[in-house]
Amino acid sequence: MYILLDGKELSKKIKLEIAKDVAILIDDGKRSPSLAVILVGEDKASQTYVRNKIRATKKTGIISHEYKLSESSTEKELITIINFLNNDEEIDGILVQLPLPKQINEQKIINLIAPEKDVDGFTPKNSGRFYTGLNSLKPCTPSGIMELLKEYKIEIEGKSAVVLGRSNIVGKPIANMLLEKNATVTVCHSKTKNLKEIVKNSDIVVSAIGKAEFIKEDWIKEGAVVIDVGINYNEAGQLVGDVDFKNVADKCSFITPVPRGVGPMTIAMLMKNCLLAYNMKKEL
Ligand code: NDP
Repeated sequence: MYILLDGKELSKKIKLEIAKDVAILIDDGKRSPSLAVILVGEDKASQTYVRNKIRATKKTGIISHEYKLSESSTEKELITIINFLNNDEEIDGILVQLPLPKQINEQKIINLIAPEKDVDGFTPKNSGRFYTGLNSLKPCTPSGIMELLKEYKIEIEGKSAVVLGRSNIVGKPIANMLLEKNATVTVCHSKTKNLKEIVKNSDIVVSAIGKAEFIKEDWIKEGAVVIDVGINYNEAGQLVGDVDFKNVADKCSFITPVPRGVGPMTIAMLMKNCLLAYNMKKEL
C-alpha cells in the first residue's frame, strides 16, 4: 500500500505559516512583503499559473502587483519594467512568467532581475551560489519536492535517485538538492540509453519530462518513492503527470498525485521565497 505525498495539504500548512509571519510583521508596524508578477502574452497555461500565484499571495498576506503585457510587446518594454521594479524599494520579489514570446530573449530578461528579488532563483548569481552551496534564493519546484520528502520523513542519504529531465527549472536543481542530501544521483534526458533499466534500479524517481503517463509499472522498483513533476494532458483531455499513476502507485512506498502533488508545493515555495527575499534584502 502506497502513501500519497499530498502537496495540496502541505502547501496549505506552509502558506498558513507564512500568513502568520506576515501578520507579525504588520503587527510590528512593518509593511507586507510584495511580489511583482509579469505576464507577457496570452498563453493559457501561463495565465492559469499566474492566477494561482496571485491567489496564493492573497492567502498569505503578500501584496501582489500584476503586470500584463501584450503578445507583441518588445524586449525593451519588458526591460523598462524590470529596471523600474529592481529600483522600487517596496518590491521584494520579481517573477517573470515563462515562456516569453519569441521576440524576447528569455535569458537576457532573467539576467536583468536583481538577484535579491529573484524569487524564482533563476539568475546566474543565485544559480552560481546555489550550485556552490552558498546561501541563495532557490528554484521553487525542486525546493517544494524537498519539502515534501522532508515532511514525510523520506530517507535520502545513500539512496539511488534518478532524475528524468535536465532543465534549469527542475531537473538540474533537484539533482543538486538530492546530491546535497547524499543520494547517488543519475540525471537522464532525451539521449539517455537504457532509461527503463536506470529507473528500475532507483529508490527515488523524479520525473520532469512532460510526457503523459510515460513511466509504466514495469519501470518501477518495488517500494520506490516516485515524484511526478509533469503536467500533461492525455488523449482523453485529462490532466496527468509523466507517470502512469493508476498502474504504478501500488508498486511505490510513496508517490505524488497529479494534480495536488508538486504543483501546489511550487507555489508555496514561491511565497516562502518572497518572505525570504523581504527578510534578507541586499544580502545576495
Ligand atoms: P523542459 O522541456 O525544459 O525539459 C524537459 C526535459 O525532459 C529535457 O531535459 C528533455 O531532454 C527531457 N526529455 C524529454 N523527453 C524525454 C524522454 N523521452 N526521455 C527522457 N528525457 C526526456 O521541461 P521542464 O523541466 O520545464 O518541465 C518538465 C515538466 O514538468 C513539464 O510537464 C512541465 O509542465 C512540468 N513542470 C511542472 C511544474 C510544477 O510545479 N508541477 C513546474 C515546472 C515544470 P533533453 O534535455 O535531451 O531535451
